[in-house]
Amino acid sequence: MNLHEYQGKQLLKSYGIKIQDGEVAHTVDEAVAAYKRMTASADTPVVVVKAQIHAGGRGKGGGVKLAKNEAELREHADNILGMMLKTPQTPGGMDGEGKLVSKILVAEDAYHPDFDACKEFYVSVLMDRGSKRNVIVYSTEGGMDIEKVAEETPHLVHKEFIDPTLGIQGFQLRKIAFNLGLSGAAFKDMTKFIANLYKAFVQSDASLFEINPCLKDAHDQIVAVDCKVSLDENALFRHPDLAELRDTSEEDPTEVEAKSYGLNYVNLDGNVGCMVNGAGLAMATMDIIKLSGGEPANFLDVGGTADAARVEQAFRIILRDPKVKAILINIFGGIVRCDRVANGVVDAYKNMKDINVPIIVRLQGTNADIAKKIIDESGLEVHSAIQLQEAAALVEKVLA
Ligand code: GDP
Ligand code: MN
Repeated sequence: MNLHEYQGKQLLKSYGIKIQDGEVAHTVDEAVAAYKRMTASADTPVVVVKAQIHAGGRGKGGGVKLAKNEAELREHADNILGMMLKTPQTPGGMDGEGKLVSKILVAEDAYHPDFDACKEFYVSVLMDRGSKRNVIVYSTEGGMDIEKVAEETPHLVHKEFIDPTLGIQGFQLRKIAFNLGLSGAAFKDMTKFIANLYKAFVQSDASLFEINPCLKDAHDQIVAVDCKVSLDENALFRHPDLAELRDTSEEDPTEVEAKSYGLNYVNLDGNVGCMVNGAGLAMATMDIIKLSGGEPANFLDVGGTADAARVEQAFRIILRDPKVKAILINIFGGIVRCDRVANGVVDAYKNMKDINVPIIVRLQGTNADIAKKIIDESGLEVHSAIQLQEAAALVEKVLA
């Protein structure tokens, strides 16, 4: 689960990390009111207006703008709110349709009062599966093009691996601050920044914290100017306060709906819809589809209790994708009996009048033979198979 920049920054602030003051606005009027409140006591009229969407690279797409006065603030807020923002990270990239911006962050100019005295760094914390450790990735080349830096000058991207039993050590904090070329007050503040960032990462069960740019400002303080946070969904039950920050309007609507039925669904690009019980079998089924010349349209794990209601919900979700040309149902009847699933499939099929793609059902396990009979005798356009190879051959046949 991803957080918005403004949410991530509040989380950082609660760990003692410095952020710019800012307010979220949903309308131009709200933005103007926020601007007035913020600049009333500030020593600069300059603010930054930032689109709040779950994608990075907003600056490149025109989603981050400086406003020097109220009129400019109004203009940027008006342009950014409601725009379809295209960034390298929105679906389809810069050539895609972009993402609708429904809120903006209005924040103090972090680079005030001396832009040239500021220095942008890159800092992130994530889990490195290879070394089975958390790693802090950092670079002096912060700002907008860290992907290019990593590709063209990888020696400028440093990594510090953290021993899980020891936690982050003082010498590691100092090494990072040193490698970033800092000294004096900024050096000291960077060690604190990294320590707090790492604590926030671990305590919130995050999978990613990315601060780019992480700024050394004109007062030699370290400020999180941008913030990308991804949380481990499997640990969200431990963080009800963070779970509340979920913004489902940023997620694939079909995936959100599937989740509400307890279905594990991920939308993909192919033409064969799959309905499977168990994540491992679902992966194997996707492999089989590929080997038969198809491309999986989705990953869908219906879980252990595939009754008629669930099968029907799963059907509806798969069929909403216009790319689907066939559906392969692959259920292993271990706990759930195959005849129950078969009845579920037939009932769902009868309840849904708009199924216009061939369906291949492969049921294996308890009462598989009875299940095949139920499907074969239903009189519906459903092809049954017991062996996975048979099912694959049927997929190949119906796609041809
Ligand atoms: P991203 O493009 O989605 O990564 O959004 P960022 O928050 O990183 O902003 C993009 C760029 O805008 C940064 O690299 C900065 O150069 C610039 N920027 C962001 N905030 C400020 C600010 O407060 N003042 C100034 N002068 N520039 C800013
Ligand atoms: Mn950024």
